[in-house]
Amino acid sequence: MRMSKLYMPTLREVPSEAEIPSHKLLLRAGMTRKLVSGIYSYLPLGYRVIRKIEQIVREEMDNAGSEELLMSAIQPRELWEASERWESFGPEMFKLKDRNSREFCLGPTHEEYFTNLIKDEVRSYKQLPLNLYQIQTKYRDEKRPRFGVIRAREFIMKDAYSFDKDLEGMERSYKEMWEAYEKIFTRLKLKYKVVQGDSGSMGGNNSHEFMAMSEVGESLVAYCDNCNYAATDEKAEVVYNVKESEGIEDKMEKVYTPDAKTIDDLVDLFKIEKSNFGKALVYNVSGEPVVVIVPGDRELNETKLCNYLGAPEHELEMADEETIIRITGANKGFTGPVGLIGDVKLLVDSRITKMKNLIVGGNETDYHLKNVNYGRDFTGEVVEDLLLVEEGDICPKCGKPLLMDRGIEVGNIFQLGTKYSSSLNANYLDEDGKEKPFVMGSYGVGVSRSMAAIVEQYHDEYGIIWPLVVAPYHVIITIINTKNEEQKQLGEKIYKELLDEGLEVLLDDRNERAGVKFNDRDLIGIPIRITVGKKASENIVEYSLRKDNKNIEISVDEIMDKIRGDFEKEDIRI
Ligand code: ATP
Ligand code: MG
Repeated sequence: MRMSKLYMPTLREVPSEAEIPSHKLLLRAGMTRKLVSGIYSYLPLGYRVIRKIEQIVREEMDNAGSEELLMSAIQPRELWEASERWESFGPEMFKLKDRNSREFCLGPTHEEYFTNLIKDEVRSYKQLPLNLYQIQTKYRDEKRPRFGVIRAREFIMKDAYSFDKDLEGMERSYKEMWEAYEKIFTRLKLKYKVVQGDSGSMGGNNSHEFMAMSEVGESLVAYCDNCNYAATDEKAEVVYNVKESEGIEDKMEKVYTPDAKTIDDLVDLFKIEKSNFGKALVYNVSGEPVVVIVPGDRELNETKLCNYLGAPEHELEMADEETIIRITGANKGFTGPVGLIGDVKLLVDSRITKMKNLIVGGNETDYHLKNVNYGRDFTGEVVEDLLLVEEGDICPKCGKPLLMDRGIEVGNIFQLGTKYSSSLNANYLDEDGKEKPFVMGSYGVGVSRSMAAIVEQYHDEYGIIWPLVVAPYHVIITIINTKNEEQKQLGEKIYKELLDEGLEVLLDDRNERAGVKFNDRDLIGIPIRITVGKKASENIVEYSLRKDNKNIEISVDEIMDKIRGDFEKEDIRI
């Protein structure tokens, strides 16, 4: 491709809302463009990267025995009613009506649609296992679209669904997909971790997330260097050892604590560690108030709370002041477990039940209670673990301290079981002619998000540094002075030869200053660079790689050998 013809609208200034490198660089390099919040176009260079990622995903899915098909993005309401997700998916779902007022959604995912597709058509155990996938556009009206294509409202996903006759079969399919994902993300050159995930609205009880590690990642991962334990912060089990305080339960006392509204204020006032407090949080869950008590030195994990309550995350919100006053009789900041007004649901993290002589809010403005003990002074619904993991917590598997890191979730695999097949009546006949629901799994790869994740891991202050496998073009030839005939002709000659070799080549034949050309080639991140300049008359060019920027002079007939060598280093054949 000649750059004089290429549609590559690079930007000097990036929109101020672009906060992270991948978002800025993909915009600046003329690879993506925003239409409205969370809705992006892929311009020619960016779309070439997308197609390469798709191709790697496709090859590994095919190798793993999954078959590609393509479904519509539009799905009828009835399908989602059957699985009870029309409501529970919540405001993330884009809904629309046709001219006859029939309701549809733009598919945020396709569990229902795939289950419905094979239902009544796959009838016998002999046709199982079956694994189907598509690479398709998904729609989610995200609460907070951000970071460009990382959290978009329209994005490209590869989604696959497996159908097995029993649990063992499903586990096998799951493992095959896991292995296929390892191959995909390895080929994409992503540094990643596989971590236990929370199954959320997807249902089922086992899931793993593939995290591209990045300091700007939205996901927090807790992991152990000693054993292989790794989980998202939403999922990670918290081992919290209560200091077994001996001694007797002291007499409960009311303490005047004006102006002390936060745990830190109280720590100053009582001169006692945070872990001696019982922290109360008040939520509104599907319109009902819920009070939760956790140890004062810890944060509550809202995902664990939603899972315990069986409520979708969008139905959880912090209670307003009015609700707090109604159920506690006190202003915000003085909520506690003793003497709540009316029939309020009170959840207690199990650790609280083992702690002695707690300090808690007094449910009276300006007062706290000390020496409060579970069982004697209050009771509630005890929940095993409602805490958010922290760095340094004890690994639930081996007991060593946990580490925390950030990641971008680029893939997700779920063991669904029979949630969708049961609700949609999708059955097969087993060996004895008995009807049984399919046992399912679902598997997603964020194709467009992966593009941004690669940029996060491969860039510097000057631009993107594409790994060869996904680079929009392999080689860029820069003619320093297009007015110089020798340079021009040599550039054209090399261009033609490399194209004949089957390489993807950009020829910078633009009538621009060398500095502009160099800046652009750094920005768009083409891995292999050939510079045709002053020594064109001697058949000598400069050769360099974007990733290390070391220039060497070579003669034109050495170019192909050099390129072959660099392809081999990346394990790719031309
Ligand atoms: P997240 O926790 O980031 O919202 P999710 O759990 O909702 O992700 P899945 O439903 O598992 O995501 O979707 C499969 C894959 O699709 C994810 O692993 C991710 O790579 C990608 N993906 C999900 N939501 C978006 C989005 N809004 N924009 C771009 N890619 C997305
Ligand atoms: Mg999501």
